[in-house]
Amino acid sequence: MSQEVKAQVVVLGSGPAGYSAAFRAADLGLETVLVERYSTLGGVCLNVGCIPSKALLHIAKVMEEAKMMGSHGVTFAEPTVDLDKIRNHKDDVIGQLTQGLGGMAKMRKVKVVNGYGKFTGANTLEVEGEEGNTTINFDNAIIAAGSRPIQLPFIPHEDPRVWDSTGALELREVPEKLLVMGGGIIGLEMGTVYYSLGSQIDVVEMFDQVIPAADKDLIKIYTKQVKDKFNLKLETKVTAVEAKDDGIHVTMEDKKGESETTVYDAVLVAIGRVPNGKLLDAEKAGVEVDERGFIRVDKQMRTNVPHIHAIGDIVGQPMLAHKGVHEGHVAAEVISGLKHYFDPKVIPSIAYTEPEVAWVGVTEKEAKEQGLKVEVASFPWAASGRAIASDSAFGMTKLIFDKETNRVLGGATIGTNAGELLGEIGLAIEMGADAEDIALTIHAHPTLHESVGMAAEVFEGSITDMP
Ligand code: FAD
Repeated sequence: MSQEVKAQVVVLGSGPAGYSAAFRAADLGLETVLVERYSTLGGVCLNVGCIPSKALLHIAKVMEEAKMMGSHGVTFAEPTVDLDKIRNHKDDVIGQLTQGLGGMAKMRKVKVVNGYGKFTGANTLEVEGEEGNTTINFDNAIIAAGSRPIQLPFIPHEDPRVWDSTGALELREVPEKLLVMGGGIIGLEMGTVYYSLGSQIDVVEMFDQVIPAADKDLIKIYTKQVKDKFNLKLETKVTAVEAKDDGIHVTMEDKKGESETTVYDAVLVAIGRVPNGKLLDAEKAGVEVDERGFIRVDKQMRTNVPHIHAIGDIVGQPMLAHKGVHEGHVAAEVISGLKHYFDPKVIPSIAYTEPEVAWVGVTEKEAKEQGLKVEVASFPWAASGRAIASDSAFGMTKLIFDKETNRVLGGATIGTNAGELLGEIGLAIEMGADAEDIALTIHAHPTLHESVGMAAEVFEGSITDMP
């Protein structure tokens, strides 16, 4: 059965970027159709990304904290792991959120069309669904088709022991020996989970530090904290991967050019993501897609075809849900006639590992590269009562100030729940706050966010004479 649908706005893809755009468009009174190839809304983030990984990280954190309690006088029995129950719990968390999204779409009268969508012209999209095709005639389109994990030709991705992040989140087994290929956020988060569940973890990273984009001082602390959890192989690259009966044979070459082959029970390939731009027949609508699959947009999220916008992972880095959500709002508002553009000063990044590593704005290294005149103020959590009481005295909060204006340009934190501190720092940067503003803000005691105020106080520009 085939059908035809008219839409003022069609949104292709229901991840954080797509559903945010669709909901905003509907709230602004536009007749909106949301196309999604899978049966649930929410995209990578809700189904196989941010949310399931955090459900599992929560379990891992509780397990590690329980272990640590032994030294404080409370001893729990060795945990037993029931993978089926953990998987069910994770799926329940996903279900609550995806069903919630379905309800919100209904409430707003957003029409959801399930199936794989491709452009057939500048105002038409064909959706191939299980129950037939739908032709959507649209006035405006928003492409929010997201990204997928990178695959490399020399890796046997078809072997069930070679996982991408989606495979790792399926929790089919706890391998005795797991290699995490790629020391970025996704690899380390999943490594954290599997370590707690009982795997022995090696992490191989080409650069000289894990999470290469993060502040060096933080990563030094992180590396020390995880030294008993992960065997980190830095400045090392994987040169061959072979699936054999006794395991996955991985050959790695270190910076001295020395090669060694190790056998793993499973390998998680977490080396980045590629945009889905080349899979949409976008050229039939006249939309330019670059050779990597990204779609270039202006600040109003318009592609080279003015009535077609693009948002989320498909338009570029950082590939983060919260960036996509804001881009989605901009695209919908622009289509509805409002004057809006995407121009955030900063986009926060968080590795929800244990300990968490979080940063927003410029890092010290970036400030140097950009020739900015900055001053760095750090507050070690060893001086924070709350951090000491929470086994997180190793943590640190670091602020980067403009030397001339004293304005905060960046911030970075490491420690338990460090990511929660970024809210204040991000707001401070967006509002142009300076060291004095932060230092004069009374932070509750004892809290971890007090460390933001303390870091500002370390900076001498925070103390001024009152008139
Ligand atoms: P997606 O979420 O990728 O959604 C795109 C949607 O489009 C999908 O549902 C897809 O099925 C659909 N689609 C694609 N093509 C078509 C088509 N032709 N027809 C119909 N439907 C189509 N980000 C964070 O900010 N915080 C985190 O903690 C975090 N954790 C992550 C953990 C993991 C393991 C992974 C993999 C990612 C994580 N991310 C996180 C990244 C985050 O998931 C993405 O940045 C975000 O999902 C991108 O949103 P999006 O809407 O652009 O695309």
